[in-house]
Amino acid sequence: MKLYLERLTGTPQREVFEAPARWWRERADSPQEFEYEILAPFRFEIDVYKTAADVILEGTVTGELEAQCGRCLARYRHALREEFRLVAEDAAGRTPPDPEGVASLSRDGLCLTDEIESGWYQGSVIQLDGLFGEVLAGAIPLHPICREDCQGLCPQCGISWNDGSCDCTPPEEPSQKQSPFAVLAKLKEREAQDS
Ligand SMILES: [Zn+2]
Ligand SMILES: [Zn+2]
Repeated sequence: MKLYLERLTGTPQREVFEAPARWWRERADSPQEFEYEILAPFRFEIDVYKTAADVILEGTVTGELEAQCGRCLARYRHALREEFRLVAEDAAGRTPPDPEGVASLSRDGLCLTDEIESGWYQGSVIQLDGLFGEVLAGAIPLHPICREDCQGLCPQCGISWNDGSCDCTPPEEPSQKQSPFAVLAKLKEREAQDS
């Protein structure tokens, strides 16, 4: 996914890149804490233009994931959408302070200096994969929930409170804190004892 700087002008131009699931799986350096399926290619839409010394890139990433809700354990479709903006300055012969920056500036023609918001570029082609990877890492939820008001599972009988209520007596401790995985484990234990 490359950006050719000689084609840029002061007027924003739209560029669209699609990255398949494989692209993300290959670059994610640590497996995410939760399991999710990638249902569609990630789509990066950017508007890019240049000023005297800067390249300015404003974009949106969208994607479709299937994730497991951390409260009720249901699998649900998660629509991903995140906006980002990068101002990259001409490196103009300067050397980035960190070895990682030096490496990515020479490899990609771009290094990030402050998260994904600013960076330096050099040469005439910018390789965008590194930037897009960082954007996506920030956009994929670490603690997915199916909806803001998901009610979770009853810690006693395991019913999903999204589907109905139960007659269990509320425990003394606030039940919200209890992880649904712990709830399921407890229920399994109880079933094993009963049989
Ligand atoms: Zn839920
Ligand atoms: Zn219950």
